[in-house]
Amino acid sequence: MSGRIVILPETLTHRIAAGEVVERPASIVKELVENALDAGATEIAVELEKGGCQSIRITDNGEGIDREDVPLAFARYATSKIGAFEDIYSVRSFGFRGEALPSIASISRVEMVTRRASSAAGTRVIIESGEVKELSDAGCPVGTSIFVSRIFDPVPVRRKFLKSDATEQGYCLDVVTRLALMQTGVKIRVSASGRSILNVPAVKDLAERIALTLGQDFRGQLIPATRERAGVRLDGFVSRPEFTRSSAAQMYLYVNRRFVKDYLLNHAVMTAYRRVIEARRYPAVVLGLEVMPGDVDVNVHPTKMEVRFRNPREIYALIVETVSLAIGAGLTPQSEGAAGSPGSGPGTYAARVDEALKRYRVSSGPGKLFFGGPFAANREAPAPQSQPLRDALTEPPQPVERGSFSDLVYVGQVAGTYLIFDSSEGMLLIDQHAAHERILFEKLRRQAAETKERALGQRLLIPEVVSLPPRDYTFLTQSAPILEEAGMEVEPFGGDSLVVKAVPAFLSQAEARTLILDLLAECTEADRDLPLIERREKIFTALACRGAIKANRSLTGPEVIALCRDLDAIPNAATCPHGRPVAVAISLPELEKMFKRR
Ligand code: ADP
Ligand code: MG
Repeated sequence: MSGRIVILPETLTHRIAAGEVVERPASIVKELVENALDAGATEIAVELEKGGCQSIRITDNGEGIDREDVPLAFARYATSKIGAFEDIYSVRSFGFRGEALPSIASISRVEMVTRRASSAAGTRVIIESGEVKELSDAGCPVGTSIFVSRIFDPVPVRRKFLKSDATEQGYCLDVVTRLALMQTGVKIRVSASGRSILNVPAVKDLAERIALTLGQDFRGQLIPATRERAGVRLDGFVSRPEFTRSSAAQMYLYVNRRFVKDYLLNHAVMTAYRRVIEARRYPAVVLGLEVMPGDVDVNVHPTKMEVRFRNPREIYALIVETVSLAIGAGLTPQSEGAAGSPGSGPGTYAARVDEALKRYRVSSGPGKLFFGGPFAANREAPAPQSQPLRDALTEPPQPVERGSFSDLVYVGQVAGTYLIFDSSEGMLLIDQHAAHERILFEKLRRQAAETKERALGQRLLIPEVVSLPPRDYTFLTQSAPILEEAGMEVEPFGGDSLVVKAVPAFLSQAEARTLILDLLAECTEADRDLPLIERREKIFTALACRGAIKANRSLTGPEVIALCRDLDAIPNAATCPHGRPVAVAISLPELEKMFKRR
């Protein structure tokens, strides 16, 4: 008998890796338009059929690909953009991983024609499920045209995660819009089923480009925001404070022309606006940050929406100052300091910088974790109005000192909810529900990431049948793979009914029906439209919340010890998945101050 461990065939590993890069048609559009831009195209056309779910054609007038390079372009980790590892710190191009074309080709049929100016004949290549089916001469203009069809045919489950053609088309348009805003010199067209939905000519000026891309209402509402300091340049436009939006969707932020969704940058912009616009309103901004490639790490995730800065504090300050000046909000570190504020109380500029930098902090020593770190009592609690923004981002794990919670001495419980601990540096209060919620959430997230450790649900003795309104039914059936990751088995049961066969292990006592209804109640209308990864976070949050120890329950000593040990073992222990603090620390100096000993 041979062993049970086998090396997966390449077609399969490609397909698995493709899942990282190609989540939906919009991911294909993003990669191909970026390739066209990297190839120096000045004209790009995107044609979508059925919102990109049936086919996508992208045509550019860029430099094209040499005949002998064509098969290589579809080989994994083949790129013309970097040659050595160090190069990833100096890349200026969008691509550099050489993953996009092979990933796309492994989950669809790709037909490409391409020609370089130096060769008389072009090349046609057809690839199906990752295999080259045809490589021949073709007459074509200089540039590249790629036609992607039979999208997700080899991986039909992926289709379950797609939404309506109209919604997918919207995502494709978002992706092109983000790229188009910064590429003022490139003519970009998008059509859907033959109808033009975006058509922006090459222009010289960013304000003009914004109006052409985002709409004519933007004319007259944009204020330039430009400043350069210590090798970092910020350049772009921000909206007048009167011109606000109900969501953060019109906040376009770029780092070295790459669109990013970065908590720090968004937070900096919101800090500047906070005093001049109402809570839950958002500005429209298009801001580009240019930093030395060595000072920013874009290599965080294959879809490359997150970044890490070497000097986040300076970047944060530059944005707050520049945007504040532009909109006349007058909020700068200097002006607050001059007003006589000590600069450390809640709500001050300094506190807000600290709050935003939390995720960059690497704690130093066990005491520091609580008393100088994210748990310190004088830190501003996460502002409710920044919540939707934070939710919109997937939080990367934060480094946390090991063994620190277990070192504390448990004193007792207040209000059946808060656990008090004694430490040589002061006292710490833990919200038992928030703490347990974070622990369960991280457990679900880890299990989802490690297929080997897939959560085993608790099988119900008597499966529960629940009938639901159509939109709830659709949402749950579409989310079934996510629920399954959490150990929850939900299947269609005919008509408008679902049957729940298993629930997450930590919820075994919960009644399946209430669990489903609570889950639906926690996921708002907007959450249901979230992309897969973010929707998973929402669902995991709802399950963790449901399973966590409630307030008003007294805990036994061993339960407290187990809670502390679990907190030590997880990342992101500072907040619950909803963003509320897990613990608050009051240092000895603070206690002494309260009792007027100092
Ligand atoms: P990456 O962009 O990370 O290098 P891709 O898989 O997206 O990887 O593309 C592989 C290679 O194919 C690129 O490095 C480039 O040389 C070539 N290529 C892809 N698309 C185009 C295009 N539209 N025009 C010219 N060359 C292209
Ligand atoms: Mg690429």
